[in-house]
Amino acid sequence: MSKEIFALSSGYLKKVVPLLMKYQVPATPPNYALWYTYVANADNELSKKIDESIKETGTLSPTLSEELYNTHVADEKVKDVDEFQRGLQALALEMGNTMEDTLKDTATFQNTLDKTFSQLARVGEEALSMEETVAVVRKAVKGSNELRQSTNFFKSQLADAQKEISRLKETLQQANDDALHDALTGIYNRRAFDTELETLAAKPPPKGFSLLLCDLDHFKSFNDTYGHLMGDQVLKLTAKRLSDYCRDGINAYRYGGEEFALLVPNRALSGGCRVAETIRATIDKLAIKDKKTGKKLDNISVSIGVAEYEKGESIRNLISRADAQLYEAKNLGRNRVMPVT
Ligand code: GH3
Ligand code: MG
Ligand code: MG
Repeated sequence: MSKEIFALSSGYLKKVVPLLMKYQVPATPPNYALWYTYVANADNELSKKIDESIKETGTLSPTLSEELYNTHVADEKVKDVDEFQRGLQALALEMGNTMEDTLKDTATFQNTLDKTFSQLARVGEEALSMEETVAVVRKAVKGSNELRQSTNFFKSQLADAQKEISRLKETLQQANDDALHDALTGIYNRRAFDTELETLAAKPPPKGFSLLLCDLDHFKSFNDTYGHLMGDQVLKLTAKRLSDYCRDGINAYRYGGEEFALLVPNRALSGGCRVAETIRATIDKLAIKDKKTGKKLDNISVSIGVAEYEKGESIRNLISRADAQLYEAKNLGRNRVMPVT
Protein backbone atom coordinates (compact mmCIF):
# COMPACT_ATOMS: atom_id res chain seq x y z
CA MET A 1 0.00 0.00 0.00
CA SER A 2 1.80 3.08 -1.16
CA LYS A 3 1.97 6.49 0.40
CA GLU A 4 0.20 7.87 -2.63
CA ILE A 5 -2.91 5.89 -1.87
CA PHE A 6 -3.00 7.29 1.62
CA ALA A 7 -2.34 10.79 0.44
CA LEU A 8 -5.12 10.48 -2.09
CA SER A 9 -7.91 12.07 -0.18
CA SER A 10 -8.15 13.42 3.31
CA GLY A 11 -11.89 13.33 2.73
CA TYR A 12 -11.83 9.58 3.35
CA LEU A 13 -9.88 10.10 6.51
CA LYS A 14 -12.62 12.10 8.12
CA LYS A 15 -15.08 9.32 7.55
CA VAL A 16 -13.23 6.38 9.00
CA VAL A 17 -13.17 7.14 12.72
CA PRO A 18 -16.87 8.08 13.00
CA LEU A 19 -17.72 4.76 11.31
CA LEU A 20 -15.52 2.81 13.70
CA MET A 21 -17.32 4.52 16.56
CA LYS A 22 -20.75 4.08 15.08
CA TYR A 23 -20.33 0.35 14.63
CA GLN A 24 -18.21 -0.01 17.77
CA VAL A 25 -15.32 -1.49 15.89
CA PRO A 26 -12.00 -1.37 17.79
CA ALA A 27 -9.60 1.10 16.18
CA THR A 28 -6.79 -1.35 15.48
CA PRO A 29 -4.50 -0.76 12.51
CA PRO A 30 -6.05 -3.61 10.48
CA ASN A 31 -9.58 -2.34 11.15
CA TYR A 32 -8.44 1.11 10.26
CA ALA A 33 -7.05 -0.12 6.97
CA LEU A 34 -10.20 -2.16 6.35
CA TRP A 35 -12.54 0.74 6.87
CA TYR A 36 -10.32 3.05 4.95
CA THR A 37 -10.65 0.71 1.99
CA TYR A 38 -14.39 0.68 2.55
CA VAL A 39 -14.74 4.44 2.69
CA ALA A 40 -12.51 4.89 -0.33
CA ASN A 41 -14.73 2.37 -2.09
CA ALA A 42 -11.57 0.78 -3.37
CA ASP A 43 -12.93 -2.77 -3.36
CA ASN A 44 -16.54 -3.32 -4.42
CA GLU A 45 -16.65 -6.88 -3.18
CA LEU A 46 -15.42 -5.76 0.23
CA SER A 47 -17.88 -2.89 0.45
CA LYS A 48 -20.71 -5.27 -0.41
CA LYS A 49 -19.73 -7.71 2.32
CA ILE A 50 -19.43 -4.96 4.92
CA ASP A 51 -22.78 -3.48 3.91
CA GLU A 52 -24.41 -6.89 4.18
CA SER A 53 -23.01 -7.53 7.62
CA ILE A 54 -24.12 -4.11 8.85
CA LYS A 55 -27.55 -4.68 7.45
CA GLU A 56 -27.87 -8.06 9.10
CA THR A 57 -26.06 -7.62 12.39
CA GLY A 58 -25.71 -3.87 12.80
CA THR A 59 -21.94 -4.22 13.06
CA LEU A 60 -18.87 -6.05 11.78
CA SER A 61 -17.78 -8.85 14.10
CA PRO A 62 -14.09 -9.17 15.00
CA THR A 63 -13.80 -12.52 13.19
CA LEU A 64 -15.41 -11.21 10.05
CA SER A 65 -13.26 -8.08 10.26
CA GLU A 66 -10.17 -10.23 10.45
CA GLU A 67 -11.30 -12.43 7.60
CA LEU A 68 -12.11 -9.46 5.39
CA TYR A 69 -8.86 -7.80 6.27
CA ASN A 70 -6.91 -10.92 5.36
CA THR A 71 -8.73 -11.57 2.13
CA HIS A 72 -9.24 -8.03 0.84
CA VAL A 73 -6.68 -5.72 2.39
CA ALA A 74 -3.61 -7.67 3.47
CA ASP A 75 -3.08 -9.35 0.13
CA GLU A 76 0.28 -9.63 -1.54
CA LYS A 77 0.16 -5.96 -2.38
CA VAL A 78 0.96 -5.23 1.26
CA LYS A 79 4.37 -6.76 1.17
CA ASP A 80 6.27 -4.01 2.79
CA VAL A 81 4.94 -4.08 6.33
CA ASP A 82 7.17 -1.23 7.36
CA GLU A 83 5.88 1.03 4.66
CA PHE A 84 2.36 -0.02 5.42
CA GLN A 85 2.79 0.97 9.04
CA ARG A 86 4.43 4.23 8.14
CA GLY A 87 1.46 4.92 5.88
CA LEU A 88 -0.93 4.21 8.70
CA GLN A 89 1.02 6.40 11.01
CA ALA A 90 0.89 9.28 8.56
CA LEU A 91 -2.78 8.60 8.20
CA ALA A 92 -3.39 8.70 11.94
CA LEU A 93 -1.42 11.91 12.21
CA GLU A 94 -3.37 13.57 9.44
CA MET A 95 -6.60 12.35 10.94
CA GLY A 96 -5.60 13.81 14.29
CA ASN A 97 -4.85 17.17 12.72
CA THR A 98 -8.14 17.21 10.86
CA MET A 99 -9.99 16.50 14.08
CA GLU A 100 -8.10 19.18 15.96
CA ASP A 101 -9.05 21.73 13.33
CA THR A 102 -12.67 20.70 13.54
CA LEU A 103 -12.61 21.01 17.31
CA LYS A 104 -11.22 24.52 17.03
CA ASP A 105 -13.98 25.41 14.58
CA THR A 106 -16.55 24.05 16.96
CA ALA A 107 -15.27 26.14 19.84
CA THR A 108 -15.37 29.24 17.65
CA PHE A 109 -18.88 28.41 16.62
CA GLN A 110 -20.01 28.17 20.20
CA ASN A 111 -18.39 31.52 21.06
CA THR A 112 -20.21 33.15 18.20
CA LEU A 113 -23.42 31.62 19.36
CA ASP A 114 -23.00 32.98 22.87
CA LYS A 115 -22.21 36.45 21.56
CA THR A 116 -25.20 36.45 19.23
CA PHE A 117 -27.42 35.48 22.08
CA SER A 118 -26.33 38.33 24.35
CA GLN A 119 -26.67 40.82 21.53
CA LEU A 120 -30.10 39.51 20.76
CA ALA A 121 -31.14 40.04 24.36
CA ARG A 122 -29.94 43.65 24.33
CA VAL A 123 -31.58 44.50 21.03
CA GLY A 124 -34.75 43.00 22.35
CA GLU A 125 -34.71 45.21 25.44
CA GLU A 126 -34.06 48.34 23.48
CA ALA A 127 -36.41 48.05 20.52
CA LEU A 128 -39.26 45.74 21.41
CA SER A 129 -42.14 45.84 23.79
CA MET A 130 -41.88 43.92 27.05
CA GLU A 131 -43.95 40.96 25.83
CA GLU A 132 -42.19 40.82 22.49
CA THR A 133 -38.84 40.99 24.13
CA VAL A 134 -39.70 38.19 26.54
CA ALA A 135 -40.97 36.03 23.67
CA VAL A 136 -37.92 36.63 21.52
CA VAL A 137 -35.55 36.06 24.39
CA ARG A 138 -37.35 32.87 25.39
CA LYS A 139 -37.14 31.58 21.90
CA ALA A 140 -33.53 32.55 21.62
CA VAL A 141 -32.69 30.90 24.92
CA LYS A 142 -34.43 27.73 23.84
CA GLY A 143 -32.75 27.71 20.43
CA SER A 144 -29.42 28.49 21.90
CA ASN A 145 -29.68 25.72 24.47
CA GLU A 146 -30.67 23.23 21.82
CA LEU A 147 -27.82 24.30 19.65
CA ARG A 148 -25.46 24.25 22.55
CA GLN A 149 -26.52 20.74 23.42
CA SER A 150 -26.05 19.46 19.93
CA THR A 151 -22.73 21.26 19.72
CA ASN A 152 -21.65 19.69 22.99
CA PHE A 153 -22.71 16.32 21.70
CA PHE A 154 -20.76 16.89 18.54
CA LYS A 155 -17.81 17.98 20.60
CA SER A 156 -17.87 14.91 22.80
CA GLN A 157 -18.15 12.73 19.74
CA LEU A 158 -15.09 14.37 18.31
CA ALA A 159 -13.29 14.04 21.63
CA ASP A 160 -14.08 10.31 21.55
CA ALA A 161 -12.74 10.13 18.05
CA GLN A 162 -9.59 11.89 19.18
CA LYS A 163 -9.13 9.40 21.98
CA GLU A 164 -9.47 6.59 19.50
CA ILE A 165 -6.88 8.24 17.31
CA SER A 166 -4.42 8.64 20.18
CA ARG A 167 -4.91 4.98 21.00
CA LEU A 168 -4.33 4.07 17.40
CA LYS A 169 -1.16 6.13 17.32
CA GLU A 170 0.05 4.37 20.45
CA THR A 171 -0.65 0.96 18.98
CA LEU A 172 1.27 1.88 15.87
CA GLN A 173 4.12 3.26 17.94
CA GLN A 174 4.35 0.04 19.92
CA ALA A 175 4.30 -1.98 16.75
CA ASN A 176 7.18 0.11 15.45
CA ASP A 177 9.23 0.06 18.65
CA ASP A 178 11.15 -3.09 18.22
CA ALA A 179 13.19 -4.09 21.24
CA LEU A 180 15.63 -6.27 19.35
CA HIS A 181 16.33 -4.35 16.15
CA ASP A 182 18.39 -1.29 15.45
CA ALA A 183 16.26 1.56 14.14
CA LEU A 184 18.75 2.87 11.56
CA THR A 185 19.99 -0.33 9.98
CA GLY A 186 17.20 -2.79 10.78
CA ILE A 187 19.60 -5.50 11.91
CA TYR A 188 19.74 -6.84 15.47
CA ASN A 189 20.81 -4.38 18.16
CA ARG A 190 23.18 -4.59 21.10
CA ARG A 191 20.50 -5.97 23.37
CA ALA A 192 19.87 -8.85 20.99
CA PHE A 193 23.63 -9.41 20.83
CA ASP A 194 23.96 -9.61 24.62
CA THR A 195 21.09 -12.07 24.87
CA GLU A 196 22.36 -14.27 22.05
CA LEU A 197 25.92 -14.29 23.33
CA GLU A 198 24.75 -15.31 26.80
CA THR A 199 22.71 -18.13 25.31
CA LEU A 200 25.63 -19.33 23.19
CA ALA A 201 28.09 -19.20 26.07
CA ALA A 202 25.71 -21.02 28.40
CA LYS A 203 25.29 -23.84 25.94
CA PRO A 204 27.90 -23.65 23.19
CA PRO A 205 27.15 -25.41 19.89
CA PRO A 206 29.00 -28.71 19.29
CA LYS A 207 31.86 -27.04 17.43
CA GLY A 208 31.96 -23.89 19.56
CA PHE A 209 31.56 -20.41 18.14
CA SER A 210 33.49 -17.31 17.13
CA LEU A 211 32.92 -13.64 17.71
CA LEU A 212 33.73 -11.01 15.07
CA LEU A 213 33.99 -7.35 16.04
CA CYS A 214 33.94 -5.05 13.01
CA ASP A 215 34.73 -1.37 13.17
CA LEU A 216 34.57 1.00 10.20
CA ASP A 217 37.87 2.70 9.52
CA HIS A 218 38.32 6.45 9.93
CA PHE A 219 34.62 6.87 10.08
CA LYS A 220 34.81 10.11 11.96
CA SER A 221 36.70 11.70 9.13
CA PHE A 222 34.27 10.14 6.62
CA ASN A 223 31.44 11.91 8.44
CA ASP A 224 33.40 15.12 8.57
CA THR A 225 34.06 14.98 4.83
CA TYR A 226 30.75 13.74 3.46
CA GLY A 227 28.30 14.54 6.22
CA HIS A 228 26.47 12.51 8.81
CA LEU A 229 23.63 11.55 6.48
CA MET A 230 26.02 9.99 4.03
CA GLY A 231 27.64 8.28 7.01
CA ASP A 232 24.26 6.84 7.92
CA GLN A 233 23.90 5.48 4.39
CA VAL A 234 27.23 3.72 4.74
CA LEU A 235 26.11 2.19 8.04
CA LYS A 236 22.91 0.95 6.41
CA LEU A 237 24.75 -0.50 3.45
CA THR A 238 27.34 -2.15 5.67
CA ALA A 239 24.56 -3.72 7.74
CA LYS A 240 22.96 -4.99 4.55
CA ARG A 241 26.19 -6.58 3.40
CA LEU A 242 26.68 -8.20 6.81
CA SER A 243 23.14 -9.57 6.63
CA ASP A 244 24.14 -11.38 3.45
CA TYR A 245 26.35 -13.59 5.59
CA CYS A 246 23.60 -14.41 8.02
CA ARG A 247 23.00 -18.03 7.26
CA ASP A 248 23.96 -21.31 8.96
CA GLY A 249 23.15 -19.71 12.28
CA ILE A 250 25.33 -16.65 11.73
CA ASN A 251 23.82 -13.41 13.02
CA ALA A 252 24.89 -9.78 12.60
CA TYR A 253 24.36 -7.05 15.17
CA ARG A 254 24.87 -3.32 15.40
CA TYR A 255 27.17 -3.32 18.36
CA GLY A 256 27.65 0.42 18.72
CA GLY A 257 27.84 3.53 16.54
CA GLU A 258 30.01 2.32 13.64
CA GLU A 259 30.74 -1.04 15.19
CA PHE A 260 29.14 -4.31 14.22
CA ALA A 261 29.40 -7.79 15.66
CA LEU A 262 28.84 -11.22 14.20
CA LEU A 263 28.29 -14.41 16.11
CA VAL A 264 29.39 -17.39 14.11
CA PRO A 265 28.40 -20.76 15.55
CA ASN A 266 30.22 -24.00 14.80
CA ARG A 267 33.23 -22.19 13.44
CA ALA A 268 36.63 -22.30 15.14
CA LEU A 269 39.04 -19.36 14.96
CA SER A 270 40.23 -20.09 11.41
CA GLY A 271 36.65 -20.49 10.16
CA GLY A 272 35.63 -17.26 11.86
CA CYS A 273 38.59 -15.47 10.28
CA ARG A 274 37.59 -16.73 6.83
CA VAL A 275 34.12 -15.27 7.27
CA ALA A 276 35.73 -12.05 8.52
CA GLU A 277 38.06 -11.85 5.50
CA THR A 278 35.16 -12.26 3.07
CA ILE A 279 33.29 -9.50 4.84
CA ARG A 280 36.31 -7.22 4.89
CA ALA A 281 36.77 -7.67 1.14
CA THR A 282 33.09 -6.99 0.45
CA ILE A 283 33.08 -3.77 2.45
CA ASP A 284 36.32 -2.70 0.81
CA LYS A 285 34.56 -2.95 -2.54
CA LEU A 286 31.66 -0.77 -1.42
CA ALA A 287 31.54 2.21 -3.72
CA ILE A 288 28.95 4.76 -2.75
CA LYS A 289 28.07 7.64 -4.96
CA ASP A 290 27.82 11.13 -3.59
CA LYS A 291 24.50 12.20 -5.07
CA LYS A 292 25.53 15.84 -5.15
CA THR A 293 28.81 15.47 -6.95
CA GLY A 294 28.23 12.08 -8.60
CA LYS A 295 31.67 11.16 -7.33
CA LYS A 296 32.32 7.61 -6.20
CA LEU A 297 33.44 7.33 -2.60
CA ASP A 298 35.70 4.34 -2.46
CA ASN A 299 37.43 4.89 0.81
CA ILE A 300 35.21 2.74 2.98
CA SER A 301 36.84 -0.11 4.83
CA VAL A 302 36.50 -2.11 7.97
CA SER A 303 38.85 -3.69 10.50
CA ILE A 304 37.81 -6.91 12.17
CA GLY A 305 38.95 -8.66 15.33
CA VAL A 306 38.10 -12.32 15.78
CA ALA A 307 38.06 -14.55 18.86
CA GLU A 308 36.92 -18.11 19.38
CA TYR A 309 35.00 -18.84 22.53
CA GLU A 310 36.98 -20.87 25.03
CA LYS A 311 34.92 -23.13 27.21
CA GLY A 312 34.31 -21.68 30.63
CA GLU A 313 35.55 -18.16 29.88
CA SER A 314 33.37 -15.19 30.71
CA ILE A 315 31.54 -13.24 28.04
CA ARG A 316 33.51 -10.19 29.02
CA ASN A 317 36.73 -12.02 28.46
CA LEU A 318 35.69 -13.17 25.01
CA ILE A 319 34.67 -9.66 23.98
CA SER A 320 37.86 -8.16 25.30
CA ARG A 321 39.95 -10.72 23.37
CA ALA A 322 38.12 -9.91 20.13
CA ASP A 323 38.51 -6.22 20.95
CA ALA A 324 42.26 -6.65 21.44
CA GLN A 325 42.49 -8.24 17.98
CA LEU A 326 40.50 -5.38 16.52
CA TYR A 327 42.85 -2.91 18.16
CA GLU A 328 45.75 -4.80 16.65
CA ALA A 329 44.14 -4.64 13.18
CA LYS A 330 43.74 -0.87 13.53
CA ASN A 331 47.33 -0.51 14.71
CA LEU A 332 48.67 -2.45 11.76
CA GLY A 333 47.07 -0.02 9.34
CA ARG A 334 43.33 -0.93 9.24
CA ASN A 335 41.31 -2.66 6.50
CA ARG A 336 42.41 -6.05 7.80
CA VAL A 337 41.40 -9.06 9.88
CA MET A 338 43.26 -10.15 13.02
CA PRO A 339 44.55 -12.61 13.97
CA VAL A 340 46.09 -13.93 10.80
CA THR A 341 45.48 -17.67 10.76
P1 GH3 B 1 39.05 4.19 13.53
O1 GH3 B 1 39.53 3.79 12.18
O2 GH3 B 1 40.14 4.20 14.52
O3 GH3 B 1 37.91 3.33 13.98
O4 GH3 B 1 38.54 5.69 13.40
P2 GH3 B 1 37.07 6.20 13.56
O5 GH3 B 1 37.03 7.62 13.13
O6 GH3 B 1 36.13 5.28 12.87
O7 GH3 B 1 36.82 6.00 15.11
P3 GH3 B 1 36.16 6.93 16.19
O8 GH3 B 1 35.76 6.01 17.28
O9 GH3 B 1 37.08 8.06 16.55
O10 GH3 B 1 34.90 7.56 15.53
C1 GH3 B 1 33.75 6.85 15.32
C2 GH3 B 1 32.84 7.74 14.52
O11 GH3 B 1 31.68 7.07 14.14
C3 GH3 B 1 32.42 8.95 15.27
C4 GH3 B 1 31.00 9.12 14.94
O12 GH3 B 1 30.78 10.36 14.32
C5 GH3 B 1 30.68 8.02 13.96
N1 GH3 B 1 29.37 7.47 14.21
C6 GH3 B 1 28.97 6.73 15.26
N2 GH3 B 1 27.67 6.43 15.15
C7 GH3 B 1 27.22 6.99 14.00
C8 GH3 B 1 25.96 7.03 13.34
O13 GH3 B 1 24.95 6.48 13.80
N3 GH3 B 1 25.88 7.71 12.16
C9 GH3 B 1 26.99 8.31 11.61
N4 GH3 B 1 26.85 8.94 10.45
N5 GH3 B 1 28.17 8.30 12.24
C10 GH3 B 1 28.30 7.65 13.40
MG1 MG C 1 34.66 2.66 16.84
MG1 MG D 1 35.91 3.28 13.56
